[in-house]
Amino acid sequence: MLSGSKIILAICIALGVALAVSVYQRADHNAAHYIITGGDIITMDADGAFNTDGVTPTHVAIHGERIIAVGSKQEIQENIRWFTRTVDLKGQTLMPGMIDAHSHPVAGAVLNSWLDVSGFSYPKSEQVYAALKRKIAETPKGEVIQAFGLDTILTPDLVLPTRQLLDELAPDNPVFILSQIMHTAWFNSAALEASGYDDSVQDPPGGYFERSEDGRLNGVVHEEAMRMLLVDPSSGLLGKAKQLINIRRSFINEYNEYSKAGLTTITALGAAPMFDGYMAFLEHIATRSNSPVRTFLAPMVYELHKTEYTPNYENGLFRLAGVKFHLDGSPWTGGMATAEPYLENDFTLNTIKMSLNNRGILKYESEDFKAKWAQYHDAGWQISVHAHGERAHGLVLDAIEQAQLANPRPDARHRMEHLGLFTQSDIKRASKLGVNPSFFINHIYYFGPTIRDVLLGEERAERFMPLRWATENFEQVTLHLDAPAMPIDPWRMLKTATTRIPRFSDQPFNTSQLMSVQHALEAV
Ligand SMILES: [Zn+2]
Repeated sequence: MLSGSKIILAICIALGVALAVSVYQRADHNAAHYIITGGDIITMDADGAFNTDGVTPTHVAIHGERIIAVGSKQEIQENIRWFTRTVDLKGQTLMPGMIDAHSHPVAGAVLNSWLDVSGFSYPKSEQVYAALKRKIAETPKGEVIQAFGLDTILTPDLVLPTRQLLDELAPDNPVFILSQIMHTAWFNSAALEASGYDDSVQDPPGGYFERSEDGRLNGVVHEEAMRMLLVDPSSGLLGKAKQLINIRRSFINEYNEYSKAGLTTITALGAAPMFDGYMAFLEHIATRSNSPVRTFLAPMVYELHKTEYTPNYENGLFRLAGVKFHLDGSPWTGGMATAEPYLENDFTLNTIKMSLNNRGILKYESEDFKAKWAQYHDAGWQISVHAHGERAHGLVLDAIEQAQLANPRPDARHRMEHLGLFTQSDIKRASKLGVNPSFFINHIYYFGPTIRDVLLGEERAERFMPLRWATENFEQVTLHLDAPAMPIDPWRMLKTATTRIPRFSDQPFNTSQLMSVQHALEAV
């Protein structure tokens, strides 16, 4: 039997040997800890996704966290040691981690703990209500129920909730349901009461409560008025519900979702102010030593004053990526700032409730926007801007041109986001101005036929999300998912960019703007 000191000595010798082996393995920088082989290897080399120096590799050698060799079996021979392990892909494909250029991890983290009632999951109205009823049945009386994702395009037969309907379904729980595009919400009487308001509540600037003829709130709330019910520090339901959810766990879940999808870098482009301190919280989550994902953050311009961030701020896996403006709205709601009016039909006029001759909205006056743009340009920021329609693109390009003339910054690399109706002439102009374009291509998957038949008509649908024109004119084009506006599914996005086949269809859509597989892979 070994005495205590002998056991300690044995442990010390074992640890010493292990340490010496590990030091030796680390010091030998040509040593492969792993060889990966047995499947296709996508290298994203400049001369082709599947090549490296013109040859298709079969083996990848890894030392620690670094790739040290890519090539044939012969070429990685010198990296093999007695401790090298082989990882067999068994026919699967190995490729670099993907980048999502435009995502919303704060909104995603908060909303992924809410009940999902989206048309991505439930394309039929009865499925939406079945999910809601299940949730109500299993929630203790008095607890807040929050749901996310109602949408009249993704769930075409959707029966919109009213205060009365939600009161009948959930008399004992505050219910708050956020629409998929997050500009409208529905609530019941218990939610109104829980937030400390009643029918006499005043509309805030930039938002309103819908009312029935007798002045009573009907349970539909728009824009800034939603914030009163949801995130206002004194009355917000989110503050009340936050105790019920583990917000840190939700963030980590969200990051794990990114990682599972194959993303290794995300840009939080215009993080949503869902609760006080959200940017510091995002940085905290992003800089965890075992975070699977690198994070870039571009705060909304009107939120920047809450931070001390500078254009080059960096903390481990977390970095600043500029600031963000919202210039126009979404095509789904008639907010995209188009050159010509939207189509006028029962859906646009009565369901989405567009006005006649609707050409969307610009959220800034031209001169004001250009002045603000110059301010951030001069301060050294990379600026990104939500710009879906032609009128938004025109104004952004004017702002960039003016700022660059006054203060040339050849490396500014300002970004334009979503770009539904980017015209060929605006693309050429943007390319000359050094713009980085980023496309929200999954619109084609989820809304393709709606864009053509209901919102914009044949001619504009043919040039919607013009990826071919973009790849012909820009050195770098990116694609983005914009989660949680749409699911974290880069594979769906790549498939849509390269096939243009909408959901529930086998008919490709505006194929003249198809992107090649090589270009699509380069865009993520
Ligand atoms: Zn977005």
